[in-house]
This record gives sequence, C-alpha cells and structure tokens, in this order.
Amino acid sequence: MFVNKGNIEPFKNKIWLSSPTMHGDEQKWVADAFEKNWITTAGENINEVERLVAEYVGCKYAVALSCGTAALHLAVKLAGERLYGQAKPNQGTLQGHKVFCSDMTFDATVNPVAYEDGEAVFIDTEPDTWNMCPKALEKAFELYPEVRLVVVAHLYGTPSKINEIKAICDKHGALIVEDAAESFGATYKGKQTGLFGDYGAISFNGNKIITGSSGGMFLTDSKDDSDKVRKWSTQSREAASWYQHEEIGYNYRMSNVIAGVVRGQMPYLEEHIAQKKAIYERYKEGFKELPVSMNPFNEKNSEPNYWLSCILIDKEAMCRQVRSENEPMYISESGKSCSTEILETLAKFNAEGRPVWKPMHMQPIYRMNPFVTANGNGRGQSNAYIDCGETFDVGADLFERGLCLPSDNKMTVEEQDVIIKIVRSCFG
Ligand SMILES: *Cc1c(COP(=O)(O)O)cnc(C)c1O
Repeated sequence: MFVNKGNIEPFKNKIWLSSPTMHGDEQKWVADAFEKNWITTAGENINEVERLVAEYVGCKYAVALSCGTAALHLAVKLAGERLYGQAKPNQGTLQGHKVFCSDMTFDATVNPVAYEDGEAVFIDTEPDTWNMCPKALEKAFELYPEVRLVVVAHLYGTPSKINEIKAICDKHGALIVEDAAESFGATYKGKQTGLFGDYGAISFNGNKIITGSSGGMFLTDSKDDSDKVRKWSTQSREAASWYQHEEIGYNYRMSNVIAGVVRGQMPYLEEHIAQKKAIYERYKEGFKELPVSMNPFNEKNSEPNYWLSCILIDKEAMCRQVRSENEPMYISESGKSCSTEILETLAKFNAEGRPVWKPMHMQPIYRMNPFVTANGNGRGQSNAYIDCGETFDVGADLFERGLCLPSDNKMTVEEQDVIIKIVRSCFG
C-alpha cells in the first residue's frame, strides 16, 4: 500500500521510460543530407549506416529500411519464399502454414506472419530470460512437426537462449527470423544478437537503445537475400529503362534524412548500453530488501544491452489485481503491491513505467491461434486452458506480476533514487 512517508515531491520534468538521447552529431549528418540535397531514400547517410551496422554486428549485409517492422516483414517473406516458393501476387508466401513465434513480445514481432498469410503458433516464455522457452518449442515441434519457420525475439535487450533454440530448429530443418529490435548491441556467447537466425531485424524507433526517430535494419549474410530485400523495399523495380515490375513491391526504404540521425547515434551505442546497465544495477541494488526481482539474464552466456529495467513481484507479495480487456483494478494491501499500483503511483509522481508486453496468446486479435507451453498445448481443442502445473502459462504470470521501470539514459542517480523510494513505498 502506498504511503508517502518520505514526502516525495513529484518530478518537475517527466521521467520517461526510454526517450531519445541526442548528442549533436545527428544534426550534422541531417544537415549534410540537406546540403547535398539527398532528401530521398538514397544517399551517403544510408550507405554509411548500412556499413556501420554490418561492421558492428558482424554480418555481411545490412539493408536500411523505414522501420523494424518492415525488416521483419521482408525477413518473414523471404523465409516463406525459400520454404514454400514464390507466392502469387494476391497471396502471402506463407499461405496458411504455421509459424512458431515468441509469445510475450510486441505485436510487431508476429504481425508479419499474418501479412504473409501464415498462422502464428505462440510458444510460451521461460522464466530465466523472459524469452521463448526452448522446452515449449520442442513440444511445439512434437505437436506440429510440419513447421519450418520460427520467429524469436530478444526481449528488453536480453538475449534469448538462442543457441538452444537454433539447435532445435536445425534438428527440425526450420529457419529462424530473429527479432533483435530491442537488443541491438546485446551479445550471446560473445556474438551479437541478430546474427544467429537466417535473417535478423533491428529497430531505430524513438525509444530504442539508439534511434533515428524511426527506421530499421535487415541483417543477413546472403548477398542474394540482401539484394532481394533492397529490391522489394523500393517497389520491386526491375533493371529496365522504365518502371518494370515482375513482383509485388513495397515502399520500405529508409530516408537519407533519418539515416543521418542513425549515423550520428551509432558512435554512442556503447555509451547508451553502459548507462542502461548502470540503471539496471542501481535498481537491483536498491530493491535488495524488497520482494521483487529484476528481469533476469544468464550472466555466463549473455551480455544484454539493458534497454529496459523491469521487475517481477514475488507471488507472495502480490496484492489482488484483476485486468479486464482494457482496464486494471487492484485492492491495496499493507506490505504488498502489484504492477498496477506501482505504475499508477509512478504516474502520480510524473514518472513513466509500463506493463510488460501482454502475451500474444492473450490478445483478442490472436485468440484463435494455438499456444504451446512446456508441458503441452496451452489451449485445448475448445480453446480452453489446460493446467500444466508449475510451467503453465509463464507469459501470463510475467504479465500479471511484472512491470517496466523508467529506464531513460538521462535519468540522474538522484532521480533514480526517488524512483526506488516510490517503488519501495508501494510495499509500505
Ligand atoms: C520496436 C519493436 C519492433 C518494431 O520496430 P519498429 O521500428 O517500431 O517497426 C519489433 N519488435 C520488437 C520486439 C520491438 O520492440
């Protein structure tokens, strides 16, 4: 129950979840685009960010696109074409085929499967990294052995157990589309996320670890595939003297002005990661005595980019909370709290938190899609849940007890101390 014991003052300037952190170089490269009049979807900034990102990540080709979602769409489309052949102009490449997808994630991870007329099968989350559960993925291949594509995300900048997932996919001859939108700069066993799958995607959306205001990048080691993505993203023009089209096209290319912003941000990626890491560690220290834990990662295998710091409230310390489709409710209780109470209290003090991603299998738009947990089919034939004991629906549990805390790079130590105090006071 929140008691304002320390007489905490609301923040004068809002503390954001994760806002853009600009350094000045960005304007220089945007100005360069203006001076050279390359105010279009071609130019030096684009070429340079593609080079810089490919070099940083360690892949052969990076294609700059309008957003991370566009990168994921073309990655899924490519995978579909590779698996099932080129689609007719009025059809997606997946044509009803099932695709295994991360369940607890942003919907941008999985929507491209629907764009390509596939059916997403959601794979439950594991508690160790809050990412796709390898055991549930194994189970899914038992239930649907025909599946040949897996879309996996690295949530909040924490690498998933991507080696295990890759081994399972290899065993079943499945391709991987890796959604590294949130995890640019994070590594698993020393290797950058976005490199493990057949295709990777990163995002430069306004709140990501570095930003272009918008923008995304498609990653691959295949020249043919990067050429294809370049072509598709620029309306699928053929090499001809006029506008010649043999395939459906998209207007997905990054603008050279946006690329100027990304180019200016690239040198600061590691600085941002270091700041986010410090925020994560200060929270961890500040909450030592509280019945909460931080969003976890495997210290031996992975180095996250710490994009968002999140907490999970211990089961015993949860006050009663219910969420309808659109509204939360809770009953305040002394010594206990819940995500809703903490988020509302932060908002009262002019700080922005956020619930963790609501799992896709709980979303109205995807309520008919299959959902697989480590112990079996999360939804029965009738769409009813089957109780799977301890590991039953990890995603729903994380959604119930978890929340994202203000994780802005520009938050001062003093401001973060106040956030810690506010959270602590909720358990008063
Ligand atoms: C931000 C995000 C995307 C989409 O990136 P955009 O650039 O906003 O299109 C995809 N997946 C995840 C997990 C994200 O967080």
